[in-house]
Amino acid sequence: MSGIQASELVVAFNGTTVIHGLDVSIASGEWVGVIGPNGSGKSTLLRALAGAIPFSGTVQIGGVAIHDLDERQRAQMVALVPQRPVIPEGFTVTDYVYLGRSPHLRFLASEGPSDAGAVANAIEVLELAEMAGRRLPTLSGGELQRVILARAIAQQTPVLLLDEPTTSLDLGHQQQALELVETMRRSRELTVVTAIHDLTLASQFCDRLVMLASGRVVGEGEPEAVLTEESIGLHYGADVSVQRDPGGGIAVIPLRHRRS
Ligand code: ADP
Ligand code: MG
Repeated sequence: MSGIQASELVVAFNGTTVIHGLDVSIASGEWVGVIGPNGSGKSTLLRALAGAIPFSGTVQIGGVAIHDLDERQRAQMVALVPQRPVIPEGFTVTDYVYLGRSPHLRFLASEGPSDAGAVANAIEVLELAEMAGRRLPTLSGGELQRVILARAIAQQTPVLLLDEPTTSLDLGHQQQALELVETMRRSRELTVVTAIHDLTLASQFCDRLVMLASGRVVGEGEPEAVLTEESIGLHYGADVSVQRDPGGGIAVIPLRHRRS
């Protein structure tokens, strides 16, 4: 079981509080989207859930407090795909995807066949085989984003935290990446939390949304309940029309009021 419970979560940077006593509960196998305007605390929340930054309050993964796990144990439970990962320049695509296997290696052990299999599988599903030998700085933004996702997939954790995984992908690759996450969620019973800017995609893929504003939860529930014209107007300062899409999700359409 790999549900996530955060309670009374507080995060401060240099004395400034950016997450104010937040409570969230994510069931094992659920896909929750974290939405909210720039600076509302989405990335900070994901980093706290991964145990990657100091916080007060508690975060439990599968009933175990993240504070009680060492770095390697945490990395076996949770893969975090950061918004702006550090890209090691000399690395090829394959080298980078192998980094996802490091939490599984025994001390001083070299990679074995199961590591090679996990890496090959991640490279295949993200259609990176053609560029497997290329060095990271030569990739386009979208290609790089797929490589970063591949590393997290190769990590084979029960919890996947994705910070804006589709932002630099074109429409086709956005859908492909999210469909892939959905397929893995079903086949491996992954628990998925994604910070996501595209509210239409969020409504189509996530079971539930948590909307943040200024480090507080201002909306939580099924996408239809959270994504209203009023809430988006209030918290994003955006003028939108919310429509039902023919596939059963919600389409959030920006409105432009032309000056006459
Ligand atoms: P979001 O991902 O929703 O855009 P973030 O979680 O990145 O927002 O940031 C929330 C707030 O915390 C912002 O005001 C940001 O400037 C601040 N913040 C984030 N990381 C740091 C940091 N390392 N040091 C200082 N302030 C930070
Ligand atoms: Mg962010």
